[in-house]
Amino acid sequence: MRKILLVTTLLAGFVIKVFPADNYKNFKVAVYARAYEVQKMDSLPWLEPIWNEISQQVHVDKIYLETHRDLLLVNEKTLLAAKKFFEKRGIKVAGGITLTVNEGNRFETFCYSNPEHRKKVKEIVEYTAKYFDEIILDDFFFTDCKCELCIKAKGNLSWTQYRLKLMTEAAQELVIKPAKAINPKVKVVIKYPNWYEHFQGLGFNLETEPKLFDGIYTGTETRDPARPGQHLQQYLGYSIFRYFENIKPGGNGGGWVDTGGSSYMDRYAEQLWLTLFAKAPEITLFDFRQIQRTIRPTDRAQWQGAQTSFDFDEMMKPVKLENGKTITPNTIARAAGYTFEKVDQFLGKLGKPVGIKSYKPYNSRGEDFLQNYLGMAGIPVEIVPEFPVDAKMILLTESAKFDTLIVNKIKGQLISGKNVMITSGLLRALRGKGIEDIVEIEYTDRKVLVKEFSGGMANSLAKTEILIPQIQYLTNDSWEDITSLESGSGWSILHQARYANGSLFVLTIPENFGDIYNLPAEVLNRIRNVLTQDVKVRIEGPAQVTLFVYDNGTFIVESFLPENVTIKVITDKQTGNLSNLLTGEEITGKDALDGRIWGRERDAVKTFDVIIKPHSYLVFQGK
Ligand SMILES: [Zn+2]
Repeated sequence: MRKILLVTTLLAGFVIKVFPADNYKNFKVAVYARAYEVQKMDSLPWLEPIWNEISQQVHVDKIYLETHRDLLLVNEKTLLAAKKFFEKRGIKVAGGITLTVNEGNRFETFCYSNPEHRKKVKEIVEYTAKYFDEIILDDFFFTDCKCELCIKAKGNLSWTQYRLKLMTEAAQELVIKPAKAINPKVKVVIKYPNWYEHFQGLGFNLETEPKLFDGIYTGTETRDPARPGQHLQQYLGYSIFRYFENIKPGGNGGGWVDTGGSSYMDRYAEQLWLTLFAKAPEITLFDFRQIQRTIRPTDRAQWQGAQTSFDFDEMMKPVKLENGKTITPNTIARAAGYTFEKVDQFLGKLGKPVGIKSYKPYNSRGEDFLQNYLGMAGIPVEIVPEFPVDAKMILLTESAKFDTLIVNKIKGQLISGKNVMITSGLLRALRGKGIEDIVEIEYTDRKVLVKEFSGGMANSLAKTEILIPQIQYLTNDSWEDITSLESGSGWSILHQARYANGSLFVLTIPENFGDIYNLPAEVLNRIRNVLTQDVKVRIEGPAQVTLFVYDNGTFIVESFLPENVTIKVITDKQTGNLSNLLTGEEITGKDALDGRIWGRERDAVKTFDVIIKPHSYLVFQGK
């Protein structure tokens, strides 16, 4: 009696949505099932209730059934039963392979120098190609083997050189050719994980493989940026999808998120919507087991209750099914379903993502993942694998040193009247390699702790002292645009050097990249202003507020801060009002004159004041 009463009371207070909704309009949703779970799928009493629970909370279009992981190969009878189960329910089925020997043993991979291992990999691929017209390789088509066979085979090559060559050959001989020999229709897709800066060292070859495989797929999970683990910044969930899309335009099939590291549920939702802000056509939920995780009271973050973008209480509202039955959300699958329903309402209005081009040559590294820290500082970055000659402003980090012609390419831009911003890390790497021919400026071995800043903006104070390298230059040969002041001395944060018809800017990067978030808003505003030449909108405000820009006048601002934040949006003066695409509300701007940047006209601009709630986004269309 008491139980019935409780249910009635609950229902009375809520608007109930009908589920399952139609397909999402702007993307497909897939679930990945590991071999450990697929091998249980010949038992209908086990599978059916689990699947019902998942699919009542999130609409699923496709399932990846993994045939192999950790030397566990799912038998034919079970694979066929699982395929039949999902196909009967209108779910598209594809195969998955994880090429690990023992994931639990520090992600032990196969040895591609060992003939027996090679034979095993080929057998797994052939077996899988018999059952599926699409196969995806999960994360592990790399090698970390340093056995004696590998040491001998490597010879005088570096590990990176050896593994790049080895895995390109293995992709052709052990995966693509054998799969197509068994099933000529099969589409073979390689899914790359999130640690792109380090790929080449383990044999993931972004230069050769995307051309060989029918498709690529992107690991967009960043989990917790602060706690032990990979320390990947949230912005990476967006930027990595864009980067890979730029490597294989039209061939990046989707983004992939797991539930790890989401100590509050908004973090999980953020990863999902960042993937979709990058315009991924499909999103894969990893995995069948993880999304059955029960929602806990501790998943509700402290800022909940203020109608933030991920509204925990709204997400927990009962869902009414088509058959009239009502269910109460109970697992993480509902957090995904709720997030998808919300973003699907506006994704179709966004154009193609655009940003400030940052050139990263194939198989390069340096200042690891720095573009994502800059993205978190409100700079919309678009990482590209080819030098973007047409851009009026290019951002180059240390990884650009892998292009041996980089100094000549920079000169070419400056001569044609364009601008280039390089980081202090690239300046150091190009010492003695011709950069002096553009400007005699030196990255010294000395460091300084700074807190106060001045220059082409109001004087300002950082949240903490920040350790930076000391950059040295010749008076009146080049100029400090932003200066940091300390003990009667000044050190360049942003430096400008004129060459032919353009300017080379040098951006001093703090020794700890995370200190970028401690820079005062005034410093960040100035850097954003100098960088923003190819994009029609920018923001002013503190770090950890991000901007996503599209080519049709739409843009998204998103805050990762735990409290409300007020920012300014700056557009060109032709922009009339901003229309809030979530609420329909119109915002009126103010006319203003842009800050002075030497060598550029002072533009008339419009500024708009915008308040963003904690861990929330706003979507706008400039009219
Ligand atoms: Zn080996």
